[in-house]
This record gives sequence, structure tokens and C-alpha cells, in this order.
Amino acid sequence: MKLETTYKSNNYPIIIEHHALDQLHDYIKNYQDIVLVIDQKVENEWSHITEFIASEYEAHKLIVPSGETTKTLSFYEETIESLLSKQLTRNTCLIAIGGGATGDFTGFLASTLLRGVDFIQIPTTILAHDSSVGGKVGINSKHGKNLIGAFYRPKAVIYDLNFLSTLPYSEILSGYAEVYKHALLNDIESVNHMEAQYSDEQALKSLDEIEYYLYKGVQTKLNIIVADEKESNVRKFLNLGHTFGHAVEYKFKIPHGHAVMIGIVFQFIVTNIMLNKSFNIAHYVNYLRGLNYPLDIVNDLEFESLYKLMLNDKKNDEQGVQMVLLKDIGDPIVRHVDYKTLSKAFAEFKSYFNK
Ligand code: NAD
Ligand code: ZN
Repeated sequence: MKLETTYKSNNYPIIIEHHALDQLHDYIKNYQDIVLVIDQKVENEWSHITEFIASEYEAHKLIVPSGETTKTLSFYEETIESLLSKQLTRNTCLIAIGGGATGDFTGFLASTLLRGVDFIQIPTTILAHDSSVGGKVGINSKHGKNLIGAFYRPKAVIYDLNFLSTLPYSEILSGYAEVYKHALLNDIESVNHMEAQYSDEQALKSLDEIEYYLYKGVQTKLNIIVADEKESNVRKFLNLGHTFGHAVEYKFKIPHGHAVMIGIVFQFIVTNIMLNKSFNIAHYVNYLRGLNYPLDIVNDLEFESLYKLMLNDKKNDEQGVQMVLLKDIGDPIVRHVDYKTLSKAFAEFKSYFNK
């Protein structure tokens, strides 16, 4: 399946399928220098593929540490200096082969190397269906995640779903949270389909039909970001589950999507209180339990420290904690939520997990 962004200019294709790599040739044949930036774990599992690409296109191979450890200023400095020592031309393409961390890092490298060279995303995790699209690239600061970065579009996203076969279940769960989030932003039918398709761990592990759901997820994200590239209005909807989720992620250093799922449940409780709705919270908690999200950490959550972290989030302003709420499934709005409401919602939230 293929999608194309619909910006006024600088559009790029997003190819989502098994064996999508067969089409890589069309996008890289004209570059003078090519550098493959490959996540270490991906290299461990898929070196036969990366070797093939490297030899076919006489590309440099740069293996980077697995996951988030690449997204530091010191590693950025080391890497960009090493790339510059290769005397690359401006007709260079960097190709990220890995999850969101490798993609964010490589995109940021590309945006700054020689004032900007091309880059291509080859995502290898489920979560990266989200991170590879939209052009946000960056690394972490000691002041917080993703605070050093840019908006910089890839030339193509080539999402070869074969890579997903070596993902551990914990990473499947993490990525699934964003796929589910995209369904919640869409409509109730999408959510019902997904819950029926992936009703328990075994079903989700199989990743049957995942191509369709990833395609729908990317499409949802694209519709939102093309309307609003710089995160002023509708782009905020993509933060569904993230206000509380980021605080939990930061505090407990758990995978991003695990925290986002917890944030999604918390959001439903706040919505019930603030917008007088009656979302069935037990349904969502049971769904997460059925998929075996590790939920034990909820017992260790404590409101005051999470509240402080929520206030620190760069998305909040002087009016307090900004949250995306679902008026209905598929109908998000952004609201400021005060301390009292958050604290009440938190007490209720904890009660669901004590059972
Ligand atoms: P990740 O890149 O850290 O990958 C997760 C883990 O899976 C790592 O240990 C990695 O080595 C391993 N891995 C990757 N592919 C594999 C494969 N095919 N088989 C086996 N193991 C594999 O994390 P992620 O969950 O893909 O992405 C999270 C990152 O994305 C965070 O840094 C987050 O800030 C960023 N993000 C960016 C955006 C954006 O818009 N730019 C959006 C969401 C998230
Ligand atoms: Zn996210």
C-alpha cells in the first residue's frame, strides 16, 4: 500500500508492505553518497539485508546503539564528526534503518549535516509508523526528551513489514498503543475492529492484518499533520494519552507506548468527569489486561510527582495542564484541566487497578 503526503510542496511517499524494500532502488539510485544508519539490534537480526543494500549501492554502514541511547548530544557530535571525516558531498542520502529512535536521530543528523542532506526512513518497529511520518526529528536534552530538533521531511518512508517479525512482544505492545490511539482519533468502527482483531496477546503477537491497521494509522496521522505541520491546533490531537503518559514514562522509564496506553485510560476518566460522559473505564482496563500490558507499575504511581511532571511538559502553558479529551470516539478536543479534576481522576484511576 502506498500513501503520499499532500503538502503544497516537498511531498514524500510512504510505502507500507511486506517486501517494501524491493522499491528502495527507485529512491536512491541518483545519490553520490549513501550512509545506512542502522540500529544495533536490527543489524544483529537483519545483517543479510543491510549487507545486501550496502554492497548493491556502495553505501557506508554506520551501526548505532540500540534505541534511545543514540539520541544524545554527545553521540550526535561523535557521529556527525565521523560523517564529515568521510568527506561526503551534498548529494548524500542518510537512510535510517531502525525504530523511532534511529529515525529521529538520523533525521536530525540529515537536517544539520552540511546544512541539510536528504534522508529516507526505513522503520522497523510498529511505533515507527508514527514517528517516521510527519517530519519531526531530534534528540534528547538533559532538560527533557526531543528538545533539540527540527521539522525536516524525509524523501521517502519505506516501511517493510518483514522487519516486524523479530520484534519482541514488549515492543509490539509499545507500538500498538499508537495504532490504537490513531483508531480512537478516527471512529468507533476502527476501534471495534481493532479490539476484535487483537483481542488477546496471542492475536496481537500474530500481527495478522497489521498492514491494514498501520496504513490506517499513518493515514490518520497524515490527515492531521498536513493540516497543521507546526503543532498549533489539530496536531495537538496526536497527544491523546500523552500528557499523563509522558509523566509516567519519564518517572518509570517504561516503553513509550506502555505509558501512552495508561495515559489513554486516564484521559477517559478525566473526560467522564469534565465532559459528563460515561465511557466504560473497566472495558479499557480489561482490554489492556487481556493484551498483557505490564500494569503493575500503576500501584507505584503517586499523584503529586506526576502532576509536577505534567506541568513541566513543553505542551503545557500558564493555564495549567493541557489534555486531549475525547468528546466521543473520533471527536477529540483540547482542554485545560485543573489540579482538582486531575487529582479526582487520579484517585478513580487507581481504584480500577486495585481490583
Ligand atoms: P526504538 O527505536 O528505541 O526501538 C525499540 C527497541 O526495538 C530498541 O531496543 C531497538 O533496538 C529494537 N528494535 C527495533 N527494530 C527491531 C526489530 N525489527 N527487531 C528487533 N528489535 C528491534 O523505539 P521505538 O519504539 O520504535 O520509537 C520510540 C522513539 O520514537 C522515541 O525516541 C520517541 O521519542 C520517538 N518518537 C518520535 C516521534 C516523531 O514524530 N518524530 C513520534 C513518536 C515517537
Ligand atoms: Zn507517542
